[in-house]
Amino acid sequence: MASMTTSKVSRYDGHGREHVVHVTKSGPRRRLACDTCGWRQNAQFLPWLKAQEHLAEAHQATVDPSA
Ligand SMILES: [Zn+2]
Repeated sequence: MASMTTSKVSRYDGHGREHVVHVTKSGPRRRLACDTCGWRQNAQFLPWLKAQEHLAEAHQATVDPSA
């Protein structure tokens, strides 16, 4: 069952490893949490974009598995 309050952004890096950032809704804000490195950030706008940026910059993970 899909949750309306939690989602995730996953990307694969050049080594075929999956990196996941979870997006949790918390009141008006969204909290981002990276499984790979423990990175945390609050985001009020465009949390998925921030998650993608983190995955690309920190883990060179830019391959969208759903694409
Ligand atoms: Zn990370």
